[in-house]
Amino acid sequence: MNEMVQSEEALAAELSSLPGLDVQIAEPLSRHTRFGIGGPAGLLITAHNTPAFLSALQATRQAGLPRVVIGGGSNLIVADAGFPGAVLRYAADCVTLAPNGNTTLLTAGAGLVLQSLVDRTVALGLKGLETMTGIPGWLGAAIYGNAGAYGHSISEIVSTVDFFDGAAIQTFDNPGCEFHYRESVFKKHKDRIILSATLRLSAHDPEQLHKTAHDILSIRNQKYPPTMKCAGSIFKNFLFAELPARVQSILPPAVVREGKVPSAWFLEQAGAKGLRIGDIQVADYHANLIYNDGAGTAHDLVAVIERLKKMVADRFDVALEEEVQYVG
Ligand SMILES: Cc1cc2nc3c(=O)[nH]c(=O)nc-3n(C[C@H](O)[C@H](O)[C@H](O)COP(=O)(O)OP(=O)(O)OC[C@H]3O[C@@H](n4cnc5c(N)ncnc54)[C@H](O)[C@@H]3O)c2cc1C
Repeated sequence: MNEMVQSEEALAAELSSLPGLDVQIAEPLSRHTRFGIGGPAGLLITAHNTPAFLSALQATRQAGLPRVVIGGGSNLIVADAGFPGAVLRYAADCVTLAPNGNTTLLTAGAGLVLQSLVDRTVALGLKGLETMTGIPGWLGAAIYGNAGAYGHSISEIVSTVDFFDGAAIQTFDNPGCEFHYRESVFKKHKDRIILSATLRLSAHDPEQLHKTAHDILSIRNQKYPPTMKCAGSIFKNFLFAELPARVQSILPPAVVREGKVPSAWFLEQAGAKGLRIGDIQVADYHANLIYNDGAGTAHDLVAVIERLKKMVADRFDVALEEEVQYVG
């Protein structure tokens, strides 16, 4: 047994004795990613409250372990070799509601499953999250990646975000979060870990909200069957205004929606649909959807991603950018 493993075991024993922490040694991350891909984490640490999480952060820092924070694992490609250090999950999921004039302020822990928040707010007749139905994962990562769908993103309803900056808990207001399409300040500064968020929601007819969410979920379940091992869209869409004029001029007008151009259009033109390496498959009905069709590996997944990027670069001279995040 090498020194690192010994120190990880000692650390695991120390942390396991703290209330609010679950610690697993050499846990395969394939069990915690929607792709079903990924080797072991040196330590997988799940914290259920803030003091426990801060203790785990401090202890792993003192031990000199590399660290990464994940959520529900629905937007991750984890290396086949896994992550040689501490993989931390902040799973606190408490919710409080406070009336605020014509709106309601909802504060929730970053570990709350986004869908449960959608269901709860729809049932309460609170508007703002209904178009995000069916987006897998937890609230913290939704803020990190400014998740969204059907013309809306979570940034529209974020009031404030509490995060740990490595030394203290801080709060950003909405402009401080620097939200853009699938971007936030937290993506640029990965050492800032989101602990909770306050969302501003307005009152609305629950039946209408329910219908909107129900209709969207029906469409989404066809595109992404619930058992599919995937990460949703692999690549970000393009902002029309940021594309070179030469590319803008060849786009069929119907392709541009809400100022965005789907990466799927470029991928489809380049012949991506149905491409396969090993057990990694590009869907034959959606060129920006890659799934693990069995015992796929991160190695083959990355090979498919690189192949697709090259196909689009060769054909259109534009660079696809991954929406999915890498670990290890
Ligand atoms: C079938 C399917 C459909 C999808 N559809 C959509 C869609 O329509 N729109 C959309 O936006 N996304 C979509 N996604 C992508 C995914 O659901 C979102 O990116 C989601 O927000 C990821 O949440 P997660 O908890 O699983 O995060 P993870 O995949 O575990 O992590 C994602 C990133 O967030 C970071 N992170 C996690 N928690 C924290 C935290 N507390 N503080 C700081 N950083 C943190 C991690 O370091 C990582 O880089 C889809 C995915 C799937 C599988």
